Amino acid sequence: MKKFILSSLLVLGLVSAVSARPLRVTTTPTDLAALTRTLGGDRVDVFSLSRPLQDVHFLDATPGMIVRINRSDLFIENGFDLEMGWVPEVIRETRNRSVRPGGPGHVNASNGIQAIQIPERIHRDMGDVHPSGNPHYTLDPIIAQQAARNIVNGLIRVDPEHAELYRANLEAFISRSEEVVNAWVEKFEPHAGSQLIIYHKHFDYMLERIGLVVADSIEPLPGLAPSARHVAELIRRHSPETVSMVIMEPWHDQRVGRQVADGVGVPLLVLCPTVGSCEGAEDLISLFETNARKLLDVLEAAEGE
Ligand SMILES: [Zn+2]
Repeated sequence: MKKFILSSLLVLGLVSAVSARPLRVTTTPTDLAALTRTLGGDRVDVFSLSRPLQDVHFLDATPGMIVRINRSDLFIENGFDLEMGWVPEVIRETRNRSVRPGGPGHVNASNGIQAIQIPERIHRDMGDVHPSGNPHYTLDPIIAQQAARNIVNGLIRVDPEHAELYRANLEAFISRSEEVVNAWVEKFEPHAGSQLIIYHKHFDYMLERIGLVVADSIEPLPGLAPSARHVAELIRRHSPETVSMVIMEPWHDQRVGRQVADGVGVPLLVLCPTVGSCEGAEDLISLFETNARKLLDVLEAAEGE
């Protein structure tokens, strides 16, 4: 009995220590770190394992990541295989059972989201980094509402005392994202159906939301560098009559993006792929707005010519 009381007290002591200090949360992309800050406010101390200008597809597991996860109350991953090259190793090495899949401290933010572009045949051996469909759902704050629900469920599991706060922040995120995104969707109505060429399939959820259409990709498969022949074929196939611009991420080879854009005769636009990658892109909603503004400026400039 004495033993039981002692262990109960220890458990209680641990619980109150957790609720007194901010929760330690670790995420894989900066987008989910920002979303967790939006939802957790002062209750969370969030660390992103990637930096804003790193392509999360191609990180390597490091001892520092394992140390970070060992000390975390919550670990949030993007899912849809975005981190398949490194997160499984980090999880395997951690001593912290709670943050492993199935544990109370683990969140797969993609749960309940319907991925687009699920391949009929998986080309992983050829370097396809989207074998479970497109993992870049955080670019569309409306789709990211489901990720926000998953994160809030995780926060409540490890910190039930502040459930009310997390739920209120979730509601605020949902209504703000509806309001902002709907206003932008309206602004893009005159351009609905406009086509463009992309480098990697990174912005597709966002483009779909605002009614723009992807005509072609510079990467023949997600993650696979283009051959000279593929680039020549894109230039042969397109003109300013078929596409309005080429868009790309800052971490891909801009000489190739420039070559395609010049060859086709349209502008090249480098967008902001993650929260923190451009000034003003501080959370998921301002990231969406920053990219929407850049796209609309190019479309309106082309119209004015
Ligand atoms: Zn990708």
